[in-house]
Amino acid sequence: MPDNIPSHAGAATVPIEPAAAICDAEARIFLSLPDIVWCLDQDRRFRLCNSAFEAFTGTKQHELVGLCPPFDGIELPQFIRGFMAHSLKCQTERGEHAVRNPKTGSRIYFETTEIALERPDGTPDGYVCVAHDMTRRKSLELELTASRNELFQHAYYDPMTGLPNLRHLAGKLAEASSVASAGRSEGALLKIDLDRFSAINETVGRASGDQVLVEISKRLREESERHGDFLARLDGASFAIIVHHHAGRDDVARDCERLLTRISKPFFVEQKLLTVTASIGASCFPEHGDNAEQLLSQADSALLFAKRGGQNTWRIFDDSLIDEARERFELEADLRKSIESDNFTAHFQAKINLKTGEIAGVEALMRWNHPDMGSIPPGVFIPLAEQTGLIIPLGERVMTDACHFARNWNDGHRKPVRVSVNLSPRQVMLDDFIPLMKGCISRAGCRPEWLELEITENMLMSDPQRIDELMRGLAALGVAVSIDDFGTGYSAISSLTRYPIASLKIDRSFVHTRVDDGKPSAIARTIVAMARELGIKCVAEGIELAGEAEMLRKIGCDEGQGFLWHKPMPEEEFFRWVARYEKSAAAQ
Ligand code: C2E
Ligand code: MG
Ligand code: MG
Repeated sequence: MPDNIPSHAGAATVPIEPAAAICDAEARIFLSLPDIVWCLDQDRRFRLCNSAFEAFTGTKQHELVGLCPPFDGIELPQFIRGFMAHSLKCQTERGEHAVRNPKTGSRIYFETTEIALERPDGTPDGYVCVAHDMTRRKSLELELTASRNELFQHAYYDPMTGLPNLRHLAGKLAEASSVASAGRSEGALLKIDLDRFSAINETVGRASGDQVLVEISKRLREESERHGDFLARLDGASFAIIVHHHAGRDDVARDCERLLTRISKPFFVEQKLLTVTASIGASCFPEHGDNAEQLLSQADSALLFAKRGGQNTWRIFDDSLIDEARERFELEADLRKSIESDNFTAHFQAKINLKTGEIAGVEALMRWNHPDMGSIPPGVFIPLAEQTGLIIPLGERVMTDACHFARNWNDGHRKPVRVSVNLSPRQVMLDDFIPLMKGCISRAGCRPEWLELEITENMLMSDPQRIDELMRGLAALGVAVSIDDFGTGYSAISSLTRYPIASLKIDRSFVHTRVDDGKPSAIARTIVAMARELGIKCVAEGIELAGEAEMLRKIGCDEGQGFLWHKPMPEEEFFRWVARYEKSAAAQ
């Protein structure tokens, strides 16, 4: 019999009962078991253990035999002490224990089993306790969990911002919308898209663009955490928030306003102060759908309409959007047909020298003669033409008209004036814009110095490299450039001095001021002062009243344009108006 199996003789303190006796073969098996095994009697006193037990605890069997907890002066891992101290709750008990290896200090995981023994007559006969080292299995399990977590992280989270991604959002949205359709809650999906993000990226560079996204994510995260909402980053500059528990459209509208305000607070990126705005499209559940796909698509439609409505704005989905989309689709089809059948003409409006009353220039403004609806103003079809790319053939059309007009006017031995044409962002981006212009000019027998192009401030700031090329090309050609709707966008003064700008056109919203208090708006005054400072001509648009013209003249504005003199009109009618205007001026 091996030494460490107590013999009857050695068990002076605790007599080993016959039932617990172990035969030689069994003893060898017991001793060589790799698991830690020990036995207790029915009063939980230590009876025997195997060599794995001794090796692990550093305690010999004879030191423990007959002892009950707390084993004063003997060091034992807590889980072994625990086994000895507590009685069994059921016949067999399993557990898991993590212990520090006393030698190496590393963590060891044991799976423990305690089995209650019975004699053949059914009386209790103590316990066998087994501790199986499952550290290897446990570490594999931990590795597996870690790689699963990593996979989950990749599949469900955006690596740049750490926010949940579209897939994650879709799952959450499906849950939320099914709860809502069971009548248990109401919520909304807000799709948020940063305005002009590609322009921001191009202006500040990709790395700073990423910083912008991180900053906006941080703001949105704070907002959604504060309100218990679920935030995700979809792609590029798009985010989405699932708002739980709203009480109707007014609540959603308030949420949109709150988010837009938070997003548009200026912040620094690499010492540059930036202001970013966004547009939001919202769909509500259960009102607009009971599944994620439908809610996402409706929020998308609402977002599209919000974008079209201008920047920094929101829209909630409703059925009228579908009608609007249908109308837009029909309008687009009509626009294509009208381009083929050439139902467009340019109308002309004079720019008047405010000091002398002379005609100082003319602006060409496009009109669509719709076969059923009559004359459609550019505010309706130019944005649509811009979005669909139809602005390219339309732009060429108006340019051709303007070139013919300029030749007709300036060839008539009059003092030459410039005819201005409005440009759209898409035309500015056109690679062959300069050759295209040259073609129009030469075909019409016009001269470049008789033309002027009107671009907006935002276009001036959109793509510095492209604008540089365009400006150089136009200067070489001899075509002038002016800035339209000045004061409504955001341009840096430096860009006004960098290029040879012929004039600044004050937007008409700053011109219509209260004539009765005799003061032009502060912004009109500032623009005039700035234009003078930079040596650029200043033109006020939309003058309707003689008082407005007088005020603008007094503060030093050079030219005016507006219904006070005449509405834009076709070429022939315009020439008749000119004849009348000059006749009455001569008579004065
Ligand atoms: P814009 O270039 O700022 O043109 C001035 C707009 O103000 C014109 O509107 C003109 O008819 C209107 N207007 C002129 N005087 C007065 C006035 O005294 N009172 C009021 N209330 N309005 C006045 P329109 O022709 O409807 O054009 C609107 C905008 O559409 C233009 O603004 C321009 O941005 C764009 N647009 C017009 N024609 C073209 C074009 O051929 N190409 C491009 N890309 N855009 C064009
Ligand atoms: Mg204009
Ligand atoms: Mg304008």
